[in-house]
Amino acid sequence: MSIFDPFSGDKIELAITIPVDEDGFMGRECPAEACEGYFKVKPDTGQVDDDLPRICPYCGHSAPSDEFFTKEQVEYAKSIAFREFTKSVDRKLKKMEFSHEPKGLFGIGVSMKVKSGPLPPIRTYREKSLETRTVCSECSHEYSVFGLFAYCPDCSAHNSLQILHRNLNLTRKQVDLTESMEDPDLRTHILEDALENCVSAFDSFGREACRVRDGKCTKPGKALSVSFQNLGRASTRVRELFGLDIALLVSEDDWRFAEIAFMQRHVLAHRAGVIDQKYIDESNDSASLLGRKLKIEPNDVKRLTEILDRLGKEVILKLPNP
Ligand SMILES: [Zn+2]
Ligand SMILES: [Zn+2]
Repeated sequence: MSIFDPFSGDKIELAITIPVDEDGFMGRECPAEACEGYFKVKPDTGQVDDDLPRICPYCGHSAPSDEFFTKEQVEYAKSIAFREFTKSVDRKLKKMEFSHEPKGLFGIGVSMKVKSGPLPPIRTYREKSLETRTVCSECSHEYSVFGLFAYCPDCSAHNSLQILHRNLNLTRKQVDLTESMEDPDLRTHILEDALENCVSAFDSFGREACRVRDGKCTKPGKALSVSFQNLGRASTRVRELFGLDIALLVSEDDWRFAEIAFMQRHVLAHRAGVIDQKYIDESNDSASLLGRKLKIEPNDVKRLTEILDRLGKEVILKLPNP
């Protein structure tokens, strides 16, 4: 930031350091008027080159790094500049102090003393708490955002696949927890929850992967809301919009396994886990009996997480870049 010397008119460059929070993160704000999204980054991680443009994690807007200062940081910098300006004026006036003693019989003494007032206050602020912290898998930049999904502010890589892996890992840990559980009802409850979590992790991943590529699909606007709660329907939609058959990205056996697991999630969420005719017809699961409760096995949930991990990775590889 630069200020002007009030006496000489010379420009004085001030290097103002923007403080980081207790975790070493610095607040940033998207300069796009329609967005103004707040996020934080850890300086000195990722591509450490101030000349590279930065990217808003929410809307993808790209601009020079110095356009991403938050309003509070700008006020802080201005208050420091104003303080330095005041100090400089005080110093210059101090130098002009003089005192002439009275001389002769009727001499008059003249003097000027400069009395400095209090310095203007510094406008301090506190960075906000955010919800999801990510280390970019492409450039190792550390950043945090509200919500979950985001573009890396440094290299623009989208974190949808990272979030999917993270959520599936949590689900695997959830399944591991059930091994030491003695209460059978609690064990069943947690396993059912783990299966539902797999589906919601893949659904949110798939929705986001399509949403950010809406501009690249055959019918722009239609990729903004592709549901992945039913794998069969999702694969038809993705084929129509992106010409990609996601069912072919894993083995036929794995695809069918995942499809049935997604149907089981539907039964758990909408039929309290009690098998209905629709499930029997669609799954061709001959071992299932109408009116009985689904039984979710730990190894089946783990297998599902592994299939979805691989499927997610292939989906991102095969879809066009956002
Ligand atoms: Zn933005
Ligand atoms: Zn990155």
